[in-house]
Amino acid sequence: PVILGIESSCDETSASVCVDGEILSNVIANQTIHELYGGVVPELASRVHQQNIVPAVQQALLNAKVSKNDIDAVAFTRGPGLLGSLLVGVSFAKAFALAKNLPLIDINHMQAHILAHFIGEKKPVFPFLCLTVSGGHTQIVLVKDYFDMQVIGQTLDDAAGEAMDKTSKILGLPYPGGPLIDKHARTGNPDAYKFPEPQIPGFDFSFSGVKTSILYFIRDNVAANPDFIQQNLGDICASVEKRIATILLNKLKRAAEEYGIKDIALAGGVSANTGLREGLTKLGAEKGWNVFIPKFEYCTDNAAMIAIAGYYKYLKGEFAGQAIAPLARMPM
Ligand code: ATP
Ligand code: MG
Ligand code: FE
Repeated sequence: PVILGIESSCDETSASVCVDGEILSNVIANQTIHELYGGVVPELASRVHQQNIVPAVQQALLNAKVSKNDIDAVAFTRGPGLLGSLLVGVSFAKAFALAKNLPLIDINHMQAHILAHFIGEKKPVFPFLCLTVSGGHTQIVLVKDYFDMQVIGQTLDDAAGEAMDKTSKILGLPYPGGPLIDKHARTGNPDAYKFPEPQIPGFDFSFSGVKTSILYFIRDNVAANPDFIQQNLGDICASVEKRIATILLNKLKRAAEEYGIKDIALAGGVSANTGLREGLTKLGAEKGWNVFIPKFEYCTDNAAMIAIAGYYKYLKGEFAGQAIAPLARMPM
């Protein structure tokens, strides 16, 4: 089948074409307007989605050399995400399906981040564990089947990506900060500064204490030396990145041991992070795991992951009706 995938949950407008499980195009329109505000402004995000959605779909069809008439089903992100943003993608998908008399396939964005691992040759084997780390979520997921996933641990407060973004804000770096922390971390010493590791039971996470300790550390050092940040940016970023990565990987290690699972995947925007990717690769080699790390273009939000999820749901014959509405909160 030829599946058109649509993603609009936050601030990326994306369209993708998947043919028989193979991704032929993945067009992502990023929204730069939010840089002016230091974070995503929901009302602006939905307006830019409206401007970008038709050109993104046209470009995705063009890149895949597929015509509108070849499409067999339209898959779209139903949630979780910003309601106004989701509405644009959901409305587009419904309108397109209605006009072309096609079935609709609703997709959970967090499941799609994980199912991105089924793009390409090397696929994880069920059951596997996935550490999903993004702007809004931090989860360890037991993936039993394509659409049978159990969250065994999650953050009690901030997400890992949020911790990255808030740290960068404290450092005076522009939004989104995660990629900039990554860039500066490459020039610094990860052991220069020590931040605390929270003691949270089970497989849950907490990042608010780490964030506060970073805030106080910067405040106190800047009070003593106004140039502290500029002089030590690489070391600060490398140390923060290392702490966030070790918090994540220590929990993942314990989950893998407890569940006796050796297929371990990483997903979500923060899986683009160099320190986390290297840390997981090293840990996996020590533990004898089969490690699955997504290609960069499938880490942050993209419609290829929606299209591939749509493909597997199409094979199951599970479709949505025209009455379907987006969900800002949507459980796995
Ligand atoms: P969710 O998927 O939870 O709804 P989201 O869709 O906004 O949230 P993603 O697009 O999956 O999140 O990921 C965005 C997050 O990833 C941001 O917090 C961003 O800072 C972070 N990020 C992206 N690249 C990197 C990187 N190289 N290093 C660290 N963080 C990164
Ligand atoms: Mg984004
Ligand atoms: Fe996401």
